[in-house]
Parts: sequence; C-alpha cells; structure tokens
Amino acid sequence: MRIEVLGAGGAWGVPRPFCPCPVCEEARLKGAPYTRLGPSLFLHEIKTLIDTPEEIGIQLNRARITRVDAVFYSHWHPDHTAGIRVWEANYNQGMKNPLHFPPKTIPTQVYLPENVARTFGEFHALRDKCEYQQKLGVTEVHTIPMGESVKLQQVKVTPMQLVEDYAAGFLFEWFDSGILKRVLILMDEVFAWTPPPDLGPLDALFMPAGAFELNPLSGERKIVADHPILTREATFPQILQALRGLDAKQVIFIHLNEIDGLTFDDYLELARRLNADPALELPPVRFAYDTLIVEI
Ligand SMILES: [Zn+2]
Ligand SMILES: [Zn+2]
Repeated sequence: MRIEVLGAGGAWGVPRPFCPCPVCEEARLKGAPYTRLGPSLFLHEIKTLIDTPEEIGIQLNRARITRVDAVFYSHWHPDHTAGIRVWEANYNQGMKNPLHFPPKTIPTQVYLPENVARTFGEFHALRDKCEYQQKLGVTEVHTIPMGESVKLQQVKVTPMQLVEDYAAGFLFEWFDSGILKRVLILMDEVFAWTPPPDLGPLDALFMPAGAFELNPLSGERKIVADHPILTREATFPQILQALRGLDAKQVIFIHLNEIDGLTFDDYLELARRLNADPALELPPVRFAYDTLIVEI
C-alpha cells in the first residue's frame, strides 16, 4: 500500500498567506518539500482520501490523482474540511452541459464516524454541504456507528474516537501475501491521547507532532509558558511520552504547524537526533513532507 502525504501542514500551511517569516519565504522560493499544504493523506491502492483542506484541489492535481473512491473525515475543523467543495468538480466531462449540473458520475463515498457526523451538523454548514453534494450525485454520504468498520476492497477501516470526543482516528487493516498489515492514522486533536492497551502492533502510525513549546533543536522558548494553547493542544514532548515503547515499525509525524517555525531541514535534523537516542524508547520516527510516499 502506498500512502501519500498530500499535505504535511497544520492549521495553516507553509507558506502561510501574508507571512514574511524565513520558513514561509524559503517555501515560496523552493516549493515542495519545503511547502506544507493542509493536512491530507491518500491511500493509492484503494483510492481513499482522508480530509479535504483548503488546498485539496491543488494537492490532488500535484499527485496526479484522477479518481477518489472514498473519503474519511477526521473532524469538522476547517483545516480538514474547508476544501469539501472539491467533490462538486467530479462531473463527467462528456456531458453536453456539464457546467450547469454535475450529471451522473462515479460518486465518492463520504464516510463520517458517528461523532464527526454529529458535529458536521453543528459547524460551518458541513451537513448541508454533504446533503447538497449527495443530491447532485457526486457523493454518497455514510455515517459509521462507533465500534463498526467499513470494508474498502480488502481493507478494513475502523474509526477510533479520540479523547477529544469530536475527532476520530482510523485504523486500516489488510492482508498482504497472508501477512496482516495495520496502519493507524491520526490527523489531529491528539490532546491526552495514549495508545489503547489493546492496540496491537502497527506497521505505521501517522501522528500529529503537537505544539512545539520550545524549539526542539535550540531549546529556545517559542510559546509563553502560560499560553492557553498549552492547555488544549498536546505538546511535542507529551506526544513523545505517549509513544514511548509503542509497538510500531515506524511513526510518521504530520500536521506540522507553520507557527512552530521549523523548516524541512530542521525536521530532518530533529528526526536524526530522536532516532539516535535510545533513552527515548521510540519506534523509528520521521517527519512528513508534501509528496512523501510511505510504502507499507
Ligand atoms: Zn488540524
Ligand atoms: Zn511563516
């Protein structure tokens, strides 16, 4: 299975509009992998997307993805849903008047874990948008009751409610030449999350890196100690603590926030240091970048 990081960024991508900081300037000059567009992953073999940030159209084009059979939404926050209109572009070019109404097409299956479906009804008219698109015929929307799974070809997908009860992670499981593969994808909102005791071994964990209160390379303080964000967002050291001793072949950090002020090269160096320190008791770690493909 090829899992592509379409966007490794967080609440705002890199370069962030209007931002003159060196990280954003470098991204403007160099492009990927120095850019980090909004959080989104794609599983190629099952043509399945997770989340649609603002830039999803650009991301799909960049990755040459021409068809999405299914999409899972992790939660309602705009950095994960603001690109939901992308489904309305999925009409059949062969029709006589495609600009007017998207005619019959292969609808994308939209999967909302129960808790996510509930909040789609509360924020940003997301439920209305889902219903509108379903009426157009470009999507079919499904709610997954918590505790249940869906099957996409031979891949089982099980949503997992996070401690932040409006958000979900997704466990993907399939057999490859008789060997069970297991990948857990958490897109965001991992405050107070720890691996459940019955999680079992993972081939990969996609995990938000959390907030960098201190610059992890220089130790310089980046967020004032009493900033309210530290009471509702996991910090990077808390994430590392949660991953101590985790039975995973690799951890890929995603949702790398612009505000942390770290570049592609900084993350390379940070991964090198983390992997060189056995006292941390971490699985092998790496930091995602736009266009990274992880082969499982
Ligand atoms: Zn987010
Ligand atoms: Zn910036």
